[in-house]
Amino acid sequence: MSRLKGDHMAMDDSSRCAAAPSAAVGEEEECTNAVEEQRCVLDDSHKELRDDDFWRQIPAYADLSASEFHDHRFQSRNCVTSARKLRQVLGDRVPDSFYADVEAGVRGSTMSLRLSPYLLSLVDWDAPETDPIRTQFLPLASRFRPDHPELHFDSLNEQADSPVPGLIHRYHDRALLLALDTCPVYCRFCTRSYSVGLDTEGVEKVHFGATLERWEQAFEYIRQHPEIEDVVVSGGDMYNLRAEQVALLGNSLLDIDHVRRFRYATKGPAVLPQKLITDHDWVEAVASVAEEGRRRHKQVALHTHFNHASEITAITRQGLDRLLERGIIVRNQAVLQRGVNDDVQSMRRLIRRLSYLNVQPYYVFVHDMVRGVEELRTTLQTAIDLEKQVRGATAGFNIPAFILDTMGGGGKRHVHSHEQYDRDTGIAVFSSPVVRPGRRFFYFDPIHELGAEARARWADADERAGMINSARQAASA
Ligand code: SF4
Repeated sequence: MSRLKGDHMAMDDSSRCAAAPSAAVGEEEECTNAVEEQRCVLDDSHKELRDDDFWRQIPAYADLSASEFHDHRFQSRNCVTSARKLRQVLGDRVPDSFYADVEAGVRGSTMSLRLSPYLLSLVDWDAPETDPIRTQFLPLASRFRPDHPELHFDSLNEQADSPVPGLIHRYHDRALLLALDTCPVYCRFCTRSYSVGLDTEGVEKVHFGATLERWEQAFEYIRQHPEIEDVVVSGGDMYNLRAEQVALLGNSLLDIDHVRRFRYATKGPAVLPQKLITDHDWVEAVASVAEEGRRRHKQVALHTHFNHASEITAITRQGLDRLLERGIIVRNQAVLQRGVNDDVQSMRRLIRRLSYLNVQPYYVFVHDMVRGVEELRTTLQTAIDLEKQVRGATAGFNIPAFILDTMGGGGKRHVHSHEQYDRDTGIAVFSSPVVRPGRRFFYFDPIHELGAEARARWADADERAGMINSARQAASA
């Protein structure tokens, strides 16, 4: 059963505080002050940003001053990239059994390991198994679940919509440019695990290096396609580009007349916010491109990726303030993950904390079907319930759209827009009238979230095919 249907949800739906009216059956509820009633549901914890020396809990960082720890060069050079390095940093903070679990987890992961000292220091090392930051970046083999039988590598089918290497043209007026294939951190759940990061034991990746020659092919394709008005510069992560590369890429896109807007996508502010404060050249490059865009009446924005409020501290606020001062629009795209942000309070706090720092919580994505991270996926119903529970928590323009990127290349669909969703079999069917008219696309809930009868049916190949066929027919009826 989804955690959402457990304690958190029950508490939110049924508990009422003293300020709330309690009407007897058959009576009309009194009209009381709505703001008073909301005190039962919302608190001000989203404003409480950590501002202590949190890194001193880590043996290797215990003697560092704030200025040493919050230097982006220190952060980049000291990322933890292996279980051995993790042990050097944490020492006896965790038992040997934990390191063994991580080692086995890394061996079974599709993503290489890379974790900044900042994020590592924000983990609660007294309870790492359930910590939301550990869950996203450090695999524990003991937590793994078998992949879903309908899961395919590159489940969004991006390579099929790629006319030149590292450029995806799926939506009529938008293109996705994979500018590079490295990141300041490696997320276990990365949709682009087919290309991002170093090769792992299980995956030889399709690499997209940051070369001018490859970028030039992408620019030329965009020049030849006047329908493209919007470009997402992603990867990989543009945090790893040098300032001059950021400027070259941005100005080249601005020079294409029909490109009206583009966004740099980066997880950087969530994992290494220090760069926004101490890497002046890089921030200047982004700000100059955005200013040049405004001069030409084009929009340049930055899309970032926070998943939990604990990733956002006072240093994050300082970094994001630098961007705000330069007039840069920042939007957030979160990924819904079991044990990270699938409970109401965590999601509300994330959304309100982002809003508080003037980052627009733009999307929450249902976790894609990605190899090796089945324990992180939730049901579609979890996303539907969460959307209902967060709407109203802040201004409407700061309430994210809960979106599912359909398997097989149907594009993004709102979680409520399914044509058919059988909660027993966990099969949801979507249509995509603009992107792929007339076709049907599926999403499958994690099998371990289903009842015993459905789990038995999924274990049988014929039953499996029958269930999928029935869902397709029901969606077309
Ligand atoms: S930062 Fe983005 S591209 Fe890089 S590993 Fe994480 S999700 Fe993937």
